[in-house]
Amino acid sequence: MIQYIMFYYSTRSRNEKVDFKVAALTGLAPDGGLFVPEQIPQYSGAVRTSLGSMSFTDIAFETIKPYVKNDIPDTALSDIVQSAFTFNAPLVPITKDNVNYRYAVELFHGPTAAFKDFGARFMARAFSFLRRGEDKPLKILVATSGDTGGAVADGFLDVDGISVTVLYPKGRVTPLQERQIAGLGKNISAIAVEGSFDDCQQLVKAALADKDLKKRMEMSSANSINISRLIPQIVYYSAAAGHALTDTKKEITLCVPSGNFGNLTAGLYSMKMGAPIAHFTAATNMNKTVPDYLDSGEYLVRISQATISNAMDVGAPSNFERMSAHFTYEEMKNIITGVFVTDEETRNTIVQVHKETEYFLDPHSAVGWKGVDKLLKENKISNPVGILCTAHPAKFSEIVEPLVGMPPIPASLANAMERTVNAKTIPVNFEALKSVL
Ligand SMILES: *Cc1c(COP(=O)(O)O)cnc(C)c1O
Repeated sequence: MIQYIMFYYSTRSRNEKVDFKVAALTGLAPDGGLFVPEQIPQYSGAVRTSLGSMSFTDIAFETIKPYVKNDIPDTALSDIVQSAFTFNAPLVPITKDNVNYRYAVELFHGPTAAFKDFGARFMARAFSFLRRGEDKPLKILVATSGDTGGAVADGFLDVDGISVTVLYPKGRVTPLQERQIAGLGKNISAIAVEGSFDDCQQLVKAALADKDLKKRMEMSSANSINISRLIPQIVYYSAAAGHALTDTKKEITLCVPSGNFGNLTAGLYSMKMGAPIAHFTAATNMNKTVPDYLDSGEYLVRISQATISNAMDVGAPSNFERMSAHFTYEEMKNIITGVFVTDEETRNTIVQVHKETEYFLDPHSAVGWKGVDKLLKENKISNPVGILCTAHPAKFSEIVEPLVGMPPIPASLANAMERTVNAKTIPVNFEALKSVL
């Protein structure tokens, strides 16, 4: 057993080392970089070979423990994972003509029906533990392209001593997402920004770095730039890969529908920790900054374009900075194959998969599905393949229903639809944000 203390440093300089508590509670490093663990821990041989049979919460405990060990004792961590992960991420074989030909890794069984519940629920509980005994309130700022805001709002609702402000691009989230973000009230408030997700993200970054605001209040972020959201996402990769190995005797290729690339980064950590993952596919919509980079070696950020998979409308993915802190271009190219999918292909895939298998895909998961189709056809990846199904199809019923009818609606979504939206609208302007905070 190797004993060490886990430190985190900024992607922009190795000089400043902090522990998990500081990395989590500050969100962004003082130099504007993202915190990354100084080394990625390894699963013990015993854990690695049991991933296929361990419970989800046991995998969560073993996975998260080395990242937080200086700050969260085992008993507290055990309580946190039990209370955060009351749902898991089943590996579901989707069958065609009674032959298993692909897995859906269903990440949408949490309260807001998208994978962000895993990160947000862990983060809220970890923050509450790390801040025990504090009496200065904490303000969490979060920019969302749709799903993060709802998950963070839900995760932190009623957490004492912490308030959350969610910034979302006005008119670019669905009515359900808007209710999940701006319908809770209590310690959760919402700001509709007349701009894109990238604008929201820039505003949050500016606020976190602003001296006046820092004097007025203690602030943190809850975007996937926060390491405490990313670490719990490693868990479902390791669980899915373990189960797939048990099922198929092979290492699985996992396809990750991507936007800000926090999810894929967590997958890379899982692989580095020793989970039996053969390869990754990064599937995007037309916001294809990273697939283009993997193709050409040139990293060119763009203005984000609106698509029907709106949680992935990101032109300048923040977690790319983390990926490149850990991997060279050549290494990335060996582990990840990029692919992009148009809206038309996404719609056709939802229709075709439903017709062939009766399985409902949401638009984001459909991007992943189609990406896999393309890459298998070009012999760029091989089976077995799992697609991370990042949202429940009913969460995007505006797109899904007209194509294939209404998928069954989880109770949590039905409840959210009953809420009333209460948000302040601002232009893309830092002073405007400052005046409403
Ligand atoms: C957030 C989100 C994504 C993109 O995940 P990243 O970690 O930003 O790459 C994909 N699908 C859904 C449904 C999401 O909510």
